[in-house]
Amino acid sequence: MYSEDELLPLSALQHVLFCERQYAFIHVEQSWNENKFTVRGDAFHTRAHEGKREVRGTKVISFGLEITSRVLGITGRTDAVETVYTDGTFQAIESVTPVEYKVGRPKKDRYDEVQLCAQAICLEEMLNVEIREAALYYGKTRHRTRVGLNQGLRNLVTQAARRVHEILASGATPPPIYEKRKCETCSFFDICRPRTLEQRGSAAGFISKQVSQLLSGEDQ
Ligand code: SF4
Repeated sequence: MYSEDELLPLSALQHVLFCERQYAFIHVEQSWNENKFTVRGDAFHTRAHEGKREVRGTKVISFGLEITSRVLGITGRTDAVETVYTDGTFQAIESVTPVEYKVGRPKKDRYDEVQLCAQAICLEEMLNVEIREAALYYGKTRHRTRVGLNQGLRNLVTQAARRVHEILASGATPPPIYEKRKCETCSFFDICRPRTLEQRGSAAGFISKQVSQLLSGEDQ
């Protein structure tokens, strides 16, 4: 169990899964170099957090809830959480569904699912409930996608949470591993210089690339 002082932002899970070096730039070196992709995402999230609470029958939709998992050592904020109660007294919970709003359309990789599953694990810990399903809403397609929270996805979240704490504790920024599809959309490309600095052929680099491909869904 992590203490309150050790909690890290939930968004770090996506960063570390995308690239451990990028995560270290943002969370270890405390820098953030915005590009058009990050700016658009931030604007979309600001709108998603504007509402506060809506009641529809026995369903309560809460926006912008602060959430924490002491087990994973993370903290963050949800876009929306739909809580369905067994009746109009709003005493007993029937189901809890976190909903995350995303700019763009569904992607092949699993980063959005990891973020959503981490939110669900936080809510399970806080509310003492079991959450089997969550949802992603994509602004571009205006479509809601159901996400089953299976053990494989939960293991990815646990693995990512472990790495964010390990890298932060080490205080070291991992070396670059150049991957065209990632590096060319990365806001840290200029300061990272992945093609110049990459240690080609290293065993660590090879293993990290394999893990990265697994997480990005290239094995599916
Ligand atoms: S440029 Fe590539 S290696 Fe460097 S931080 Fe970005 S994704 Fe990682």
